[in-house]
Amino acid sequence: MKVHEYQAKALFREYDIPAPLDVVAHTAAEAEAKAKDMGLPVVIKAQVHAGGRGKAGGVKVVSDAAEVGPTTERILGLTIKDLPVRIVMIAPAVEIKTEVYLSLLVDRGERKAVFIGCADGGVEIEVTAKESPEKILRLEVPGAQLAFLTADSCKEFATKLMGDADLADQTIAVMQKVAKLFVEKDAALIEINPLIVDGDDKVVALDAKMSFDANGLFRHPELEELRDMDSEDADELGAKEKGLSFIRLDGNIGCMVNGAGLAMATMDTIKHFGGDPANFLDVGGSSNPEKVVAAFKLILKDPDVKVMLINIFGGITRCDDIAKGILASLEQIDVPVPIIVRLVGTNEAEGRKLLEGTKLISAETLEGGATKAAELGGAA
Ligand code: GDP
Ligand code: MN
Repeated sequence: MKVHEYQAKALFREYDIPAPLDVVAHTAAEAEAKAKDMGLPVVIKAQVHAGGRGKAGGVKVVSDAAEVGPTTERILGLTIKDLPVRIVMIAPAVEIKTEVYLSLLVDRGERKAVFIGCADGGVEIEVTAKESPEKILRLEVPGAQLAFLTADSCKEFATKLMGDADLADQTIAVMQKVAKLFVEKDAALIEINPLIVDGDDKVVALDAKMSFDANGLFRHPELEELRDMDSEDADELGAKEKGLSFIRLDGNIGCMVNGAGLAMATMDTIKHFGGDPANFLDVGGSSNPEKVVAAFKLILKDPDVKVMLINIFGGITRCDDIAKGILASLEQIDVPVPIIVRLVGTNEAEGRKLLEGTKLISAETLEGGATKAAELGGAA
């Protein structure tokens, strides 16, 4: 789960990580009044769950009170990476002497938390990592040490990052607090880009990006309140309400599978045969035909979908129930793409019989189904 910058900064302040104060506004008039109270110059920033807001025109420094309204209006009219801007954050504009990049995240491969640093801040870290990987600093921290991070263990990293003893000390303090926040809130990522040195030589977080491990959220009702439903994928949320796990992907093969493990194996197999899945979809253990209809609707909403692969391993799920769901779906909705079905397990013979004489393409094996799907999806 992601939160907005202003929400992440409120958590920063709770943990004593220096960040400029801020207020939020939903309209130009509200922004004008609040900027006036704050005093100019201010920075007005789009609050959306996406980076690169500056480049998209979503971050503006304004020194003239008359410009606050029109600038806010313009930012509220933006759509950044498909996300409409509904809220702006207003903060006193800060003088920037230096911008660096600092983040803390989980490196699953290493099974450790890792701080990433780069003396060139403010820019997209992915670009630097690709073009000049030697500029990226890493400090791996075993999970158990994160909450009690010692200054000593951060010293080399912070010194390389800031190139100055006093600034390094301030940065170490930030790193220790960031680590504590990370552990205590079950964060998945804390990114400060840029972490700056301001006009008074203070190290300050000018931007803040945080996301949380969804599996830890039940321990944090205070974080659940920060959830911005407007910023989450409406289809993914709708699927959850219907008992489906659905995640949209970039490919063109719509997948309907029972069980998360089989769904992942299905996507891997599709990839192996040169295809590209359009989604992850687990219809779950039960096999009520309504769920199958809902799953069809979700998958076909995506205009990229050129073919569907239904892969069902009947255990508790009964293949004949799935077949009935498929038939009901075909009656209710117009399915403009070919559908490949593989049904095995409980009541597979009954299931297959129900589908006889329809336009569905039957597959005996997952490999066969995935190969056919890749072919119909236009794989090279
Ligand atoms: P992002 O583009 O979504 O990462 O948004 P940021 O909050 O990082 O802002 C982008 C850039 O705007 C920063 O790297 C800064 O250079 C600039 N910026 C943001 N806030 C201020 C500010 O208070 N004063 C000045 N001078 N520049 C700012
Ligand atoms: Mn940024």
